[in-house]
Amino acid sequence: MTDTLNAPVYTVPQERRIVTAVPGPASQALHQRRLAVVPTGVSSALPVYIARANGAILVDVDGNQFVDFGAGIGVTTVGHTETAVVSAAAEQLQDVIHTLFTITPYEEYVRVAELLAEHTPGDHAKKTVLVNSGAEAVENGVKIARKHTGRRAVAVLDHAYHGRTNLTMAMNYKAAPYATGFGPFAGDVYHAPNSYPYHDGLSGAEAAARTIAYLEKVVGASDLACLVAEPIQGEGGFMVPAEGFLTALQEWCTANGVVFIADEIQSGMARTGAYFASEHFGLVPDLVLSAKGIAGGLPLAAVTGRAEIMDSAQPGGLGGTFGGNPVAAAAAIAVFDEIEKNDLLAEGRRIEASLTAGLRGLQEKYDIIGEVRGIGAMIAIELVQPGTAQTTKLPNADAVSKIVAYAAQQGVLLLNAGTYGNVLRFLPSLAVSDELIADAISVIDDAFAAL
Ligand SMILES: *Cc1c(COP(=O)(O)O)cnc(C)c1O
Repeated sequence: MTDTLNAPVYTVPQERRIVTAVPGPASQALHQRRLAVVPTGVSSALPVYIARANGAILVDVDGNQFVDFGAGIGVTTVGHTETAVVSAAAEQLQDVIHTLFTITPYEEYVRVAELLAEHTPGDHAKKTVLVNSGAEAVENGVKIARKHTGRRAVAVLDHAYHGRTNLTMAMNYKAAPYATGFGPFAGDVYHAPNSYPYHDGLSGAEAAARTIAYLEKVVGASDLACLVAEPIQGEGGFMVPAEGFLTALQEWCTANGVVFIADEIQSGMARTGAYFASEHFGLVPDLVLSAKGIAGGLPLAAVTGRAEIMDSAQPGGLGGTFGGNPVAAAAAIAVFDEIEKNDLLAEGRRIEASLTAGLRGLQEKYDIIGEVRGIGAMIAIELVQPGTAQTTKLPNADAVSKIVAYAAQQGVLLLNAGTYGNVLRFLPSLAVSDELIADAISVIDDAFAAL
């Protein structure tokens, strides 16, 4: 993006600007309307109502500009209202908006499947089914794995997040707020230990041995259809598993006829400086789940996998009314194109270097920053109680909440994460500049100082 010929033209100045209290009067008025008609179960982290968004900046209805380190939870990876995505979607709106691929198909669906076959890990024959949301991709991945294996059990890892449908509620680690009171839940879901190097201190091989022992003793390999794992956990707090953990699990899965499903819904689509985070670990999953960043903000999700596994579902067994919508598919094609044309994988590496350097600088000043971790534009810090960073590592959710609130007042939108709410995650679009990162780090520095 430093090439001036290809330099993106932004319709909103890429800077933070706070002109009212946060939330401002117009946002507060909208919030009153919302409270009357939107249920409390749908909550908002920061109730400023957004009027425009471009690049790495959100503009609210009061004219405040926020540097967006959430990107709608890693959705607008190529940038908000990215020009190529907007044109591709606008053009597609003129041509055809909907036919339903399972009635009369169209090229855009096929093209997205070709692009996913090309860019997901491994050079085996692959096929793709397109759906609407991440949770729906997880549901379909499990369906396909069960059909292929004829087995019932599903294994997930501790601290996982997979969605809000009935099956995925059972697959999440955290009960509150995702599942509390919403049961009964789907059965045959088993929660196996993860690799969490900062806390367990285990090597990849040791952590994998622990996970495998659980799967063999508690589930039994012959009943296990699939293991679903996020290569870097999202909501769990961006834990990077110890080296060799994922490949050891994959080897065990292959040896035991278990389908390895990588949930790359948050970590995929160029977020980590690779198309898919699996690549950083030498992992070649049997099935890969994509969603969030795949279509530049339009709803689209995918299950991509080994052709022989994907083909185990009978005709009519997969699909859905809106799955692979032509407008969303056209946007996804533009996203793949942008990744190539603007070398967005390099942008992920740039952001990693810039954010990690800034956050390590803060870690030297503030001993409650226990760990700085992550890959690409998926970086987090875990906050602990004073004096426990090297010992008990007791979670400090209160500090995270205060920093998120302070930063919002200054025009920096941050997200929390982690089972204990004590992780601050940075999940910006790849359009975020080093200048905006430096600016945000100085705001966060002030936020820590103010604690
Ligand atoms: C967001 C997310 C999901 C669920 O996706 P939705 O589109 O919200 O249904 C599943 N897995 C991971 C890793 C996610 O981050």
